[in-house]
Amino acid sequence: MGEPYPGRWLVTGGRGFLGAAVVACARASGVTDIVAPGRDEADLTRQVEAEALLARTRPETVVHLAARVGGIEANRRNPGLFFYANATMGIHVVEACRQQGVRKLVVVGTTCAYPRLTPLPFREDDLWNGYPEATNAPYGVAKRALLTMVRAYREQYGLDGIYLLPANLYGPRDNFDLESGHVIPGLIRRFMEARDAAQPAVRLWGTGQPTREFLYVGDCADAVVRAARLYSGADPVNIGTGREIRIADLAALIAGLVGYGGELRWDPARPDGQPRRRLDVTRASHLFGFSATTPLEAGLRETIAWYAAARKAGPPEQQARGA
Ligand code: GDP
Repeated sequence: MGEPYPGRWLVTGGRGFLGAAVVACARASGVTDIVAPGRDEADLTRQVEAEALLARTRPETVVHLAARVGGIEANRRNPGLFFYANATMGIHVVEACRQQGVRKLVVVGTTCAYPRLTPLPFREDDLWNGYPEATNAPYGVAKRALLTMVRAYREQYGLDGIYLLPANLYGPRDNFDLESGHVIPGLIRRFMEARDAAQPAVRLWGTGQPTREFLYVGDCADAVVRAARLYSGADPVNIGTGREIRIADLAALIAGLVGYGGELRWDPARPDGQPRRRLDVTRASHLFGFSATTPLEAGLRETIAWYAAARKAGPPEQQARGA
């Protein structure tokens, strides 16, 4: 994958779900000097703390992954917090990168930034053609604004910032909290608990009809590290598999892998969120040779094995990543 990118990397959110995977991937590819502070070391919603972190660590490359995120219910409960925290953290980090003359900045957005009814597959050029799905709009718009900021800073200050849009992530170390987490860890946990308690049925959110595109966290980390090294440009880039699956089919697949044979009951009183998501992934392939390599079923097996081991090791609450 080319020569190791020189100099120190700062990975904000570097102890989180994606952050830890990016740190591991960067190390494996030859980056030796990595700083990965947690929220306890620098509250990036405070400008002085963001600036102090950059001034203290003086990185050449910054990967901004610190975020307040969660599943559909966490977004519904925290629209204000998710807008404020994600907008301010991003704004402060980008500005601090400018002040310190950072050589490379990677900002990670989200498919939640796309308009609710984007034509399939989602192309990067369609990003601004409508308002996002209501359930995740505050989060999506806060992240989308950072694309405008990064492009403006490239134009005015020559800051080499790039912007990536990953699909829904999943994998080991995800947030397995039932209320705040995303669908894959939620289903794994629900089915394991139902299997162990011999429950005849499990209640799932929504109608099961929406589709999502899921990206294994290790594949996303690979894309981030490649892009940091090989891509320099103003255009945002989707990161995904290009494949979608209906939530009902995903649930049946996970139930099978977990070994739960009971009935799946859908609860339409819970929101479905965006009707469909599938990304056009050609740009990432052309620009920095990225294509996802982990098939969904293999990634789910890894995730299930990790969670089964974590459950044995301690109460589930201790396994949840901090959102
Ligand atoms: P989203 O992609 O931002 O909508 O986030 P989620 O991963 O939370 O939800 C994806 C889809 O899975 C939505 O249609 C949810 O209604 C559905 N879903 C079904 N059961 C669950 C569950 O137990 N937890 C979560 N988070 N979503 C679920």
